[in-house]
Amino acid sequence: MRELSCKGRLVGPSLLALLLLPSCGISAAYHVRYLAELEPPARYNHPYDGPLDERVVSAVEVTTLCMSMGTSPFAAACSLVAEDGTCHIVLPNNGQAPVSTYRRHEIAHCNGWPPNHPRDQEQAEVLDQ
Ligand SMILES: [Zn+2]
Repeated sequence: MRELSCKGRLVGPSLLALLLLPSCGISAAYHVRYLAELEPPARYNHPYDGPLDERVVSAVEVTTLCMSMGTSPFAAACSLVAEDGTCHIVLPNNGQAPVSTYRRHEIAHCNGWPPNHPRDQEQAEVLDQ
């Protein structure tokens, strides 16, 4: 029997597949919430208006690179706007969410989303359900 990986893309029909697979290490409900929490508020969710330096690396390398940028060793991904205005983002290619989800999240930080992740009212209501 073919096993489905938890690392598969979690968009569209594959989300349903995940819900039918309780053998994954984390629960589907937790995972869906995790993906929702990664989504930035609408006003920060747009392309960065400046030079972007993106690195997509393994989770281990994310830890090394992010620590060298001065962020938490527990960060799944990180971003830093340098003095010249370049936004450096480091994204895992084997994280719990698709690279595109981490990319939206970190670019939102480039756009000024504070590190403590304040949310739009509307988004907070969705997550509180
Ligand atoms: Zn963040």
